[in-house]
Amino acid sequence: MTIGQALDAAAATWPDNEALVCPAQAVRLTWRGFRDRVEHVAAGLLAQGLEPGDRVGIWSLNRAEWALTQFAAAKAGLILVTVNPAYRLAELEYALNKAGIKALVISPPFKSSDYPGMVAALAPELAECEPGALEAARLPHLRLVVQMGEDILPGAMSFAALENAGREVGNAALAAIAPTLKPHDAINIQFTSGTTGAPKGVTLSHHNILNNGYLVGHGMALTPKDRICIPVPLYHCFGMVMGNLACVTHGSAMVFPGEGFDPLATLQACAYERCTALYGVPTMFIAELDHPRFAEFDFSHMRTGIMAGSPCPIEVMRKVISQMHARDMTICYGMTETSPVSFQTGLDDSLERRVSTVGRVHPHLEVKIVDAEGATVPCGTSGELCTRGYSVMIGYWDDLEQTANAVDAEGWMHTGDLATLDEEGFCQIVGRIKDMVIRGGENLYPREIEEYLYRHPKIQDVQVFGVPDELYGEELCAWVVVREGMVMDDEELRAFCRGQIAHHKIPRYVRFVEDMPKTVTGKIQKFKMRQAMLREMR
Ligand code: ATP
Ligand code: MG
Repeated sequence: MTIGQALDAAAATWPDNEALVCPAQAVRLTWRGFRDRVEHVAAGLLAQGLEPGDRVGIWSLNRAEWALTQFAAAKAGLILVTVNPAYRLAELEYALNKAGIKALVISPPFKSSDYPGMVAALAPELAECEPGALEAARLPHLRLVVQMGEDILPGAMSFAALENAGREVGNAALAAIAPTLKPHDAINIQFTSGTTGAPKGVTLSHHNILNNGYLVGHGMALTPKDRICIPVPLYHCFGMVMGNLACVTHGSAMVFPGEGFDPLATLQACAYERCTALYGVPTMFIAELDHPRFAEFDFSHMRTGIMAGSPCPIEVMRKVISQMHARDMTICYGMTETSPVSFQTGLDDSLERRVSTVGRVHPHLEVKIVDAEGATVPCGTSGELCTRGYSVMIGYWDDLEQTANAVDAEGWMHTGDLATLDEEGFCQIVGRIKDMVIRGGENLYPREIEEYLYRHPKIQDVQVFGVPDELYGEELCAWVVVREGMVMDDEELRAFCRGQIAHHKIPRYVRFVEDMPKTVTGKIQKFKMRQAMLREMR
């Protein structure tokens, strides 16, 4: 099935059920109403001269237009490239050129003085104003910029005009294209977070992401009565696949509490829209639970949801279950390259399992854990997690070499994550292979050392990684952010470790820093710390 067919099925099966609710934009659409607007946008994009296989970028926070564009691109056979809204000009230029984006749908003007300059720079040949920071030749593929909201800047077309144009031309072109679209066609390019290097563009098919969305929803036992509150970003698979595609395949409603994450708006959306499911990374749940007005909101409809992205503290899960009534909250593990989810906790799993593991492998996927030579390791031993099945990406966009490094000839995706599996198939994520340090032939796991150091009352944040060493091959280095108003030196840190953790796990180098290098989504980039240390040591 294609994503367009799934939308048609939703509109036929649950025509009057709510599909999309965006309180901040006063948008409320049923599945039939949503499908109709999607078709207008799709027809509008085709009327602008775009053809199946062309890339359409979207660079915006969570808005109704985001979901309309996502499904419209799928209906028209256009490959949607989801660009992080936090990207600025240089990063946007990289994404636009890397994926050869022909049309870009952008957010309404935001309160940044560089916004008009950016739009002008994106569409200099269309703009009446000066080209600004970029030469037209630097964006050879871009032909159309569609802007949401009002105050349309010179050079851009308004989203409303695009939709109206589509309504006027009708669905003949769309109907002609529909039979030519196939489930295994590429339909989406998503960039990885860039935690371990430059973000990679991952090409995914309808088959990949539609089935993953369906199975994630199945893992929460979604029904057409469910209403999912989605405060996580849509440009990431968390929002667009685990959220929107889980909804379209179950007839559940997509509720977008606002453009960026706001704990109060999320609480309001959950209560006033009677949401039955809530998504987030652990820090979002913490912000909601700790909000001074939390007690005012009615959570009696809440049942399930997803927490993913990083390990969940047990206390947080306890509160989510008791105070938010989300007794069926699940934990997911995945990566962009696998559409994304491959592990999810079950609704009957114990609290302990839900916080200490990422659950069991999803249906229709195979899993194995291998050592450095590629041999499967026994239960309980850590090694590289590999998965195989329907959800493995088509490949990295325009990069056969990297694809071959990640997906082997037998179709196994090598995740780059270290994990263990127990006898019952529950998976624990130990860390990333790239982060593992081999000192004098001994494997050291930075996360274990970080967890010990976090106990020091003066340490606010600590990251441990390896740097090259002539004698031992690698040595440990720790970067530390000290709590405000406190002072600490490396001797104090080492004294804290002595006698408590093995001698070879005590960091040889310690640096005190103000902040850690992070991706725009907040993931820590150890490779940048390593580079900084190498420069210092040279
Ligand atoms: P890049 O590939 O560009 O370095 P990235 O791997 O962080 O960045 P994503 O595809 O967004 O980009 O993230 C997938 C990774 O996130 C996984 O490989 C894993 O390391 C981590 N991850 C995802 N879910 C969990 C989880 N529940 N617990 C621990 N780690 C997780
Ligand atoms: Mg990755």
